[in-house]
Amino acid sequence: MSFVRLIYASRATVEFQPSSIQSILQAARKNNNQNYITGLLCFNQRGFLQCLEGKRAEVNRTFQRILKDPRHENVEIISFQYSEKREFESWNMGYLQNNQIMRDLLMRHTGSAEFLPLTLIPEDAFAILKDIRAMMEEVAAEEA
Ligand code: FAD
Repeated sequence: MSFVRLIYASRATVEFQPSSIQSILQAARKNNNQNYITGLLCFNQRGFLQCLEGKRAEVNRTFQRILKDPRHENVEIISFQYSEKREFESWNMGYLQNNQIMRDLLMRHTGSAEFLPLTLIPEDAFAILKDIRAMMEEVAAEEA
């Protein structure tokens, strides 16, 4: 098995400020590119859901750094799987707006329109991440 896929959820702390988004994005882009980590980080003001894919050692090292970050707490691994192929071709980050499209998506997968990452089961977490990636790709294609 060539790759691992780690999905975790966490809760934002008071240290997670609007300016944090840019600094997380910058650090993650730089590090994840260097370490061949792909995946997606979804978040709103309250919580995070992230998938990290790559070689096992790199995913573990990245996750250990993320674990120590005071901008979030209650970090819980939802799933850790070995895989022959990556699901995500690059690394990305998306803010989850509280709009009807997002509420419908969450309702479809979890039966609740609220983003409650710490309550997710592995299948729903993975499905939500893939749907959000597809939405982001659609938006990018429309903008191109
Ligand atoms: P640097 O590049 O030196 O620092 C990274 C940046 O983060 C700097 O701008 C620094 O000022 C800033 N920073 C660090 N801690 C704080 C803080 N408490 N308050 C304000 N700014 C701060 N990193 C990854 O490499 N890949 C990821 O996929 C990734 N995902 C993340 C997901 C979440 C939910 C969170 C909260 C953080 C994530 N990070 C990720 C960031 C990670 O926790 C480390 O901050 C980062 O990896 C450190 O990078 P660096 O060693 O290159 O440090």
